[in-house]
Amino acid sequence: MTPRSRPEWVGKRPESMPGTDVLLRLYARQNGLCACGCGRVMNLNRDKVDCDHKLPLRDGGLNVESNLQLMLHEHHIAKTSEENSGRAKAKRYQARAFERRSSSQSRGFPKAQPRHSATAPLSKGVGIGFQEGD
Ligand SMILES: [Zn+2]
Repeated sequence: MTPRSRPEWVGKRPESMPGTDVLLRLYARQNGLCACGCGRVMNLNRDKVDCDHKLPLRDGGLNVESNLQLMLHEHHIAKTSEENSGRAKAKRYQARAFERRSSSQSRGFPKAQPRHSATAPLSKGVGIGFQEGD
């Protein structure tokens, strides 16, 4: 936390992206650590970093700086799929059960990669993408 009183960034629209200055502020606030709690330091040059809404927009979260946190892309994916609650979870379990059953009998199917088309690169210099779980 910096003692300087800067106005909090507020997205004009739910899909508005914060600027690089805001993202760097978030990064500093988190001491560069991934917000999921894994303890990993995010490397903005090497790692794919997402901007996450702590409280998802569809759960009433606001697109404002205080509701944003930076997270490693793959950890954000994990959080998002957890947030997509019961239905997705049930689907995963079903898929697993199906794999187990089918592996002894047939080849099974290759797992499809989840698509996350909302990711957009922010700027040339900083490797932060903005992604909202659907
Ligand atoms: Zn993490």
